[in-house]
Amino acid sequence: MDKKVLNGLLRPKSVAVIGASNTPGKIGYSVVDNLIKDGYQGKIYPINPSSPEILGLKAYPTITDVPGSIDAAIVTVPAKIVPAMAEECGKKGVKGFIVITSGFSEVGRKDLEQQIVDTAHQYGMCVLGPNIVGTLSNSDKFNGSFAPCLPLAGKASLISQSGALLIALDAATYTRKVGFDKLVSIGNMSDVDFADIVEWLDEDEKTSCISLYIEGFKDGRRFIEAAQKTKKPIIALKSGVSAHGAAAAASHTGSLAGAAKVYGAAFRQAGVIQAADLNDLFNKTQAFSEQPAMKGDNLLIITNGGGVGVLATDAAERYGLPLKFAPEDVQAELKKHMPEFGSAKNPVDITGMGGNEWYYDCVKYAFAHKWVDGLVVLYCETAVTNPQEIAESIKKAVVDSKVKDKPVTVSFVGGERCDAAMGWLVENGIPAYGAPDLAVQTMAGLRDYAKLHEKKASFDFKSNAKARKTALEIVAAARADGRNALTEIEAKQVFKAYGLPVTDTQLAKSEDEAVTLAKKVGFPLVMKIVSPDILHKSDAGGVKVNIKDEAGVRDAFKTIMANAKKYKADANIHGIAIQEMAPMGTEVIMGSVNDPTFGPTMMFGLGGIFVEVLKDVTFRVAPIADDQAVEMIGEIRGAPILAGVRGEAPRDRKALAETITKYSNMILDMQDEIAETDANPVLVYEDGKGLKVVDARMILKKK
Ligand code: ADP
Ligand code: MG
Repeated sequence: MDKKVLNGLLRPKSVAVIGASNTPGKIGYSVVDNLIKDGYQGKIYPINPSSPEILGLKAYPTITDVPGSIDAAIVTVPAKIVPAMAEECGKKGVKGFIVITSGFSEVGRKDLEQQIVDTAHQYGMCVLGPNIVGTLSNSDKFNGSFAPCLPLAGKASLISQSGALLIALDAATYTRKVGFDKLVSIGNMSDVDFADIVEWLDEDEKTSCISLYIEGFKDGRRFIEAAQKTKKPIIALKSGVSAHGAAAAASHTGSLAGAAKVYGAAFRQAGVIQAADLNDLFNKTQAFSEQPAMKGDNLLIITNGGGVGVLATDAAERYGLPLKFAPEDVQAELKKHMPEFGSAKNPVDITGMGGNEWYYDCVKYAFAHKWVDGLVVLYCETAVTNPQEIAESIKKAVVDSKVKDKPVTVSFVGGERCDAAMGWLVENGIPAYGAPDLAVQTMAGLRDYAKLHEKKASFDFKSNAKARKTALEIVAAARADGRNALTEIEAKQVFKAYGLPVTDTQLAKSEDEAVTLAKKVGFPLVMKIVSPDILHKSDAGGVKVNIKDEAGVRDAFKTIMANAKKYKADANIHGIAIQEMAPMGTEVIMGSVNDPTFGPTMMFGLGGIFVEVLKDVTFRVAPIADDQAVEMIGEIRGAPILAGVRGEAPRDRKALAETITKYSNMILDMQDEIAETDANPVLVYEDGKGLKVVDARMILKKK
């Protein structure tokens, strides 16, 4: 989206309020009142066909009557006349059309909404909303909304999909002491969406950190691409992770791919830090807007109380930043600034006797030491110390250390004096929290951010024309047959075309043919029912493994056929698959869904009970580069099993990663056709010996 157009929308030099009113309580009144009261310096043009003056400003009957040019128009008139207003604004050369009015797609009037966007686009105008609170910018003293005030000034900016929440958070910025520059209500996202504003905020000099409240993206991939390019940290709180994905899923992967998992994967790939809840969103925003990322793993904790030190130590482990003992030289120096019975290890405990000077000396020395990558300073209120003085000592030590590229967070535990001292710290750029674990949790967020950005995933992908051609033929044949599920044999042909190592499989239509094929494939072998009506073959008694000779083949053929007919009398049976028997290996599962928001998304985990019971799986949006595949393999709880436990040889994780990458390319290349897939199980062998896909399932999109 054009930057100039967005400038006009978010930092307008002149604003018209369409539906401006003299009646308190009306939104058209609040918006004009807010613009005036909060000190907006640009031109304000109230538009009202029947009042010549609104709140002391000259009003105009229509926007066409306004003498000057207009950057943004804030619209509060009823939904049905908004399209006509879009036309007038477009003609007038308005850049941003801000639609506060509701009654559009959220109540089923998508048509009306689309009409506005179409009109706007004819004139190069963009639409914010509809169904929003408006947009606010502290640095422009611009309250173009019906939220009662500008937020507490600060360096973060917030985009919220919920209007009510934006108003609430706006007020809470004062009590929480977390400041924002811009607050943007994004509503129905008919036109301008998260990605557009994230891109714009990335270049906004007043914003150092971008916070998001998300209910759902329209186009998840576009968001990932925008976020990946962003140089500023993004913190996202996603709500509504419980119901999504509950829709009936035909594959194993489909049933496990809930919104929480898929959004979580997408955020990681986008380099976005996820907030767990509203508190966490505020806490992280405070830290990220004031502090740099933590570039290494060495966290040092300085405390005057053992209890909070241990709580912080526990939290460090919980949030993935376990403490290490400080090196000898650090310990030796710190020892000089504490009583004999203090500890300089880590946490550094300067004891309850620790006063202003000891805090100052320890913080200044430790923060500047090259071993330390991040510092958490804790304080428990004592009878002999003054929280405000401690706060000032910490701040002064941080400044005097001259360190600017490391983060520091603080927690004071105590009463009102502690709260006041923390307020002072926050105002002076040092994030401070009421509990030690929060100071550690936000620090861990700063560490996660640095780690995510060491290897931001790219979305490079090339179609494989030859494989796609083969796959499309197989898909077309199945569709011509009136099916939307491929048989295992067909699915494996598609897998094979994309370079996945599948077991060699042939279809036998009769017992004699089975014997002939068996001799070609070689013993031992596996036989399985091939029927589009039997997707879970074992459940139907349709799988026989380890068949050793001709007699076994004949026997298995009869048994499988009989079992299948018993299972489903009218099943359409293509025949029986004669398949090479893969050697025993570690069972893993791969699979995919075509997520409504993010498109082709892949799952990986250990097979058997690990997936069935423990749901120990991980997701990524396709395509998945090799290093991300390695990350997936390493992040499941069962990862040590693949690394080799109890003297077992490590599994071929290199081949596994390559296969994940190829699989992700397949589902992306075929996304117009494929709904869900499973490769369950894939047998993984020891290092250097590769892996085999022994079962494949592919469900097509309904067309
Ligand atoms: P389904 O999942 O439809 O019941 P599978 O094809 O996965 O059927 O077969 C069931 C089990 O049989 C697999 O989990 C695997 O343990 C074993 N199996 C299937 N095919 C092979 C094969 N080609 N080589 C070795 N074992 C196999
Ligand atoms: Mg299976």
